Amino acid sequence: MITTQGDREMHSNISINLSKKNNSKRTYSNNQSHTAETRTYNSRNTSSQSLYAQAVNGQLKNPTPTRRTTNSTTSTNWTTTHTRATSSTRTTNSTTSTTRSTTSKPNYTQWADKTLSSANFLKHRNQAPTQSIADLKKLVKKDEIPVRVFGLWGLEEIWINMTVIEYKDDIIIVDAGLEFASFDMHGVDYIIPDISYLITKKKNIKGILITHGHLDHIGAIKHILSELDYPIVYTTPLALGLIKRSQNEQDQKKMKYKIIDPDIDIIKLWEFLVEPFRVNHSIPESMWYAIHTPKGNIVHSWDFKIDFVPAIDKPADLGKISRIGQEWVKLYLGESTNARTPWHTPSEKLIGENLDRVIRSHPTQRIVISTFASNIWRLIQIIESAVRHNRVIFLAWRSMVWNVQLCQELWYINVPKDMIRLVSGEIDQMPDERVMIVCTGSQWEEFSALVRMATNTYKDFMIRPGDCILLSSHTIPWNEKAVWSLLNTLIDMWIDLVDEPTLALHTSWHACQEDMKEMMALLKPEYFCPIHWEALMRHAHKKIALDMRIPEEKILLPKNGQIVELYDECVLLSEKKLKLDTVTIDGKWQWHLSWEYVTKARWIMSQDGVVALIFKIDTKTRELVGNLQIESRGFVYSSEVKTIHTQIVELARAEYNKNLKKKMEIKDNLRNIKDLLEWEIEKIIGRVPMIIPMYVYINREALTTPVQQNDEEEIIGMTLEEQGGVEEK
Ligand SMILES: [Zn+2]
Repeated sequence: MITTQGDREMHSNISINLSKKNNSKRTYSNNQSHTAETRTYNSRNTSSQSLYAQAVNGQLKNPTPTRRTTNSTTSTNWTTTHTRATSSTRTTNSTTSTTRSTTSKPNYTQWADKTLSSANFLKHRNQAPTQSIADLKKLVKKDEIPVRVFGLWGLEEIWINMTVIEYKDDIIIVDAGLEFASFDMHGVDYIIPDISYLITKKKNIKGILITHGHLDHIGAIKHILSELDYPIVYTTPLALGLIKRSQNEQDQKKMKYKIIDPDIDIIKLWEFLVEPFRVNHSIPESMWYAIHTPKGNIVHSWDFKIDFVPAIDKPADLGKISRIGQEWVKLYLGESTNARTPWHTPSEKLIGENLDRVIRSHPTQRIVISTFASNIWRLIQIIESAVRHNRVIFLAWRSMVWNVQLCQELWYINVPKDMIRLVSGEIDQMPDERVMIVCTGSQWEEFSALVRMATNTYKDFMIRPGDCILLSSHTIPWNEKAVWSLLNTLIDMWIDLVDEPTLALHTSWHACQEDMKEMMALLKPEYFCPIHWEALMRHAHKKIALDMRIPEEKILLPKNGQIVELYDECVLLSEKKLKLDTVTIDGKWQWHLSWEYVTKARWIMSQDGVVALIFKIDTKTRELVGNLQIESRGFVYSSEVKTIHTQIVELARAEYNKNLKKKMEIKDNLRNIKDLLEWEIEKIIGRVPMIIPMYVYINREALTTPVQQNDEEEIIGMTLEEQGGVEEK
């Protein structure tokens, strides 16, 4: 089981004591402020009161009171007669929201008398926006320091998620994920965010908030914690287990963390008050954060959907989300993954029921189910369904095994232990109707279990005619061709294939358009940033926001590294932009790509091969000594190699001698030769390989036997065949 002993080991500015007897009462202590104080929140009361207001009015470190101004796009605004617990004055945007009660029972009669009339109502309906970005800029006070929000990747893609929120000397971070390298990043394993900026300010980092345990949100943690001097990680037990699994022993010991419960906990991090809340996704314990800052409240999303009847999880906490919306959200950063997909995302429970139906309707066959190892809810439903039908689950992939083990430790999976085993020769001894294999590989990932099973290269299990193969996944964008190859290979094996078109066996992990609208309606943000996917989806999400009457000048589309600035009276997209590098993990090494030629070189070599030339040069005269040596790989086919090599050597020798007469420096000479060869080789074969000219000095006077030049042996390099390589057909 995961323990919270790290809580006791670290020094944090907050402790949240969870009482086992009464979960509604929480003790909140701030030991970072000048005086240590303790506050107790009753979570039942928080629905009607601004938590930020409570904290501000209490003895907690006091952020600057916020003031919300009216959006002048609508001419008729009204000022609420009730006041917030803070000293702020607040007016509301009548086009997007109703007046919000924050502290006490509202006096409806009073409002009606002072604000609305049917004439005003009709008058403001058709008014065009009157604010411009220039208008907003005028609202910035002289020398005002904004809260700065920026992504170190993750705003323009669905991977490498990492957002920084900074105010004066305080920084908090939301997630730190990775992206698996694409096929054109030859040899690179994955990419992580560029934390160069944070390294210069690591003393200011007050904490890293984790939204959920997928690798695109936690995968970089193991690379950045030591570089940032181990800031505290705020997370849940499952995400913590997944992080720790990826770390080396030293980082496991040094990592400081706090377990948070999104239903009850509030975290005070210097100038920020952070309130987590539950959303649904494909993994348990997914949450977002409402971050109350001195310049207004930010709601930071990441992966979510709204599932009213989730299979195992609780539904998203719409009540709390609504309350946060009522307390005013100044900036909402909303994920855009499915912004072009209409309707609601179907419930995971429906998929579980369909999977159960398929298993029940194949009572005598061996069943192989392929799904994503990171889709924990699906995995749990599959395992429970297998046990219901008295099948033993054989797991066939390392990440799948790890995830299941962790879920068993955390009691998300609670079935008899001997019903879950590793794939082994034991399967052949078992009746077919008792066997269920659960594996990855539905995307034709190289070396994955299903691909190896389908190609008969998996040691412990071979698919045979009559097996039922069930693919519970969708095709990842740009991977259609590979998935078609998989389906063709499988169906050719005379198996019983059940995939998505047959029955709904997969549902998205992310919210569709109507869910996004629902979230927007509850949060009622004043400013909105569509994040998390490419321009196509972000603009689709922007259109949703426009349809929901958020004025265009209040919808910001920052690029990675571009800074969003929150001021008292407005939110602006700064001209300032952090320069972000592509940071790759390549085996055990971490590289900044702009410093490295390596992946470009790999790309050139993969396309056109490589040619190496070695020049032996007399120490005194700089004349060439003996033969030029040439080697090439992946360059030309074996039938052409000697002809092309001869041409290259003749060209290189002639150019060298010509430049030598001009008394050209050796390095300049070789550079000239490289340029010439690129030009000439392209004319001959239509491609440009990587050309590597090298030289070595020979002291002819010191040689006991003179170097002979033999035209017959001009080409020293061997072909692939001569070296015993693969024969070209
Ligand atoms: Zn996710």
